[in-house]
Amino acid sequence: MRLKTKLSLALGFLFLVILTFCVLSIFYINKLSTNEDRILKNNFETLMFCGNMLKELDQLPQNTQAYKAFEDNLNKQENNITEQGEKEATADLRKNFNELKANPFDSSKYPQIRQSIQIINSLNENAILRKNNSAHNTAEDANFILTIIFAVLTLIAFTLVVNFPSIISNPIRVLSEGIAAIADKNYNKRIYLDQDDEFGDLAASFNSMAEKLDEYENSNLAEIKFEKSRIETIINQMKDGIIGLDNKRNILFLNKVAEKLLGLKETEIIGKYAPDIALKNDLMRTLLSEENNKKELKIYADNKESYFNKDILNVKNPENNAIIGKVIVLRNITPFHELNEAKTNFIATVSHELKTPISSIKMSAKLLTDERTGNLNGEQNELITSIREDADRLLKITGELLNMAQVETGNIQLKLQTTNPTLIVDEAILAVKFQAQQKNIDIKIHISDHLPIIHVDAEKTTWVLINFLTNAIKYSTDSSLINVNVFTENDQTKFTVQDQGKGIAEKYLPKIFDRYFKVPGTNEQTGTGLGLAISKEFIEAQGGHIWVNSFIGGGSTFGFTFDNS
Ligand code: ADP
Repeated sequence: MRLKTKLSLALGFLFLVILTFCVLSIFYINKLSTNEDRILKNNFETLMFCGNMLKELDQLPQNTQAYKAFEDNLNKQENNITEQGEKEATADLRKNFNELKANPFDSSKYPQIRQSIQIINSLNENAILRKNNSAHNTAEDANFILTIIFAVLTLIAFTLVVNFPSIISNPIRVLSEGIAAIADKNYNKRIYLDQDDEFGDLAASFNSMAEKLDEYENSNLAEIKFEKSRIETIINQMKDGIIGLDNKRNILFLNKVAEKLLGLKETEIIGKYAPDIALKNDLMRTLLSEENNKKELKIYADNKESYFNKDILNVKNPENNAIIGKVIVLRNITPFHELNEAKTNFIATVSHELKTPISSIKMSAKLLTDERTGNLNGEQNELITSIREDADRLLKITGELLNMAQVETGNIQLKLQTTNPTLIVDEAILAVKFQAQQKNIDIKIHISDHLPIIHVDAEKTTWVLINFLTNAIKYSTDSSLINVNVFTENDQTKFTVQDQGKGIAEKYLPKIFDRYFKVPGTNEQTGTGLGLAISKEFIEAQGGHIWVNSFIGGGSTFGFTFDNS
């Protein structure tokens, strides 16, 4: 039965109970009042008429008015006959009264009239008594029947009151238990309500929802498991070490390479707080420290020294872009390192091997210009000058390549010694004097008085200054001015080379000291792009600092600084 019908029936029943009570009460009250009415109205009036007639009879025959009054009461009595035998008695009374009226002094009629009145009187008195009894009985009946009905209805209503709330609350309880189970992801939960009502429908809908969720969860789970094992396979195949952390820095996963590098088993550290592991593991400490990001790490792995780059990738929630974890990738760059090393060795060897023949070409060209080897014509002289210039350039390039090889292999050999800054400047100027003269460039030197003696590798510092000056000459127009400044500031000795060339655009300045970098548009033939990179390495190896200030149209100032010792 539908819940709506049950509720309608329950309320209908209560309505019926109230209605039945009202109807029965009205019925009995009406019945009682009808009885009473009848007693009071008809019988009592008859008693009154009889009393009046007896009173008038006593005044007869002297009082003629009494006939009229008697006649009135008799007329009323004739119209108020209610009891059995009353009609006959009234008819006797009428007959006797009519005879008395015809013969007023017939005294024998008085007793007969009185007797008739007496009969009518007693008939009505008996009727009053009888009706009174009947009213009493009706009241008792009503009392009895209403009590019985009240008892039965109370019993039914009580049963209803006791049972009805559970008809509604039981299914609601079962349903809310089911919903709580679903909220706990217990998608196996089903509700069994053997009811053909709205709750039954609700239970059926709930079960089909749970079934769908169960299906969805299982398919999702299978998909997630598949994805997990796919990703695990991929990351275990990789040569890079991979470690996954959640947003609280607990370790979620790591691959075989990471296991090997850390020297820890996955089962030992999964789910553990990474900084706790870092307390006993140097590599983990390095991996967690943010500042070492992007720095090359040298780790002993695969029975050799291996090189790794650390990369920390943030894992973001695609819905709100919040960071939900990190993946630390230890990129194995050993093969590149090995290739780079091979390249550096090759360059070093080739440059070294080239140096001797180039020097001998240079020497031969010089000897050719000597008059003792014979006179040369103008054209031959020009060719030999060109050979010497090219040989110089080649020597410079091989020198730079050798220096670079030294830098790349980390083999910069420093010969630190106390040096007078002026000597460094003098030697550098001497080296570039000829080039400057060729372009009619004036080099002005400004050296502060009382410069302190500095503790540097004079040869390498001079090399850097020569490189600055060579560039300044190379990238300046003819007949321009180059200023060389050496001064002390904030307990530091500063060397600067300032030219009036076209300058360098601001966007290229951060890259200017990178290896092989040349400002786009620079003549490809003019250099290797290594000079400034080597300069930076040489100056920084000595604890100094190198910098550049330049803008388009404003010339360039290259400089380096050493702390005064
Ligand atoms: P290169 O041998 O090419 O001169 P460097 O490392 O010495 O190599 O210089 C790198 C690049 O910086 C040059 O190719 C040039 O584009 C730019 N550069 C260096 N010095 C100057 C300068 N004084 N004025 C303008 N550009 C310069």
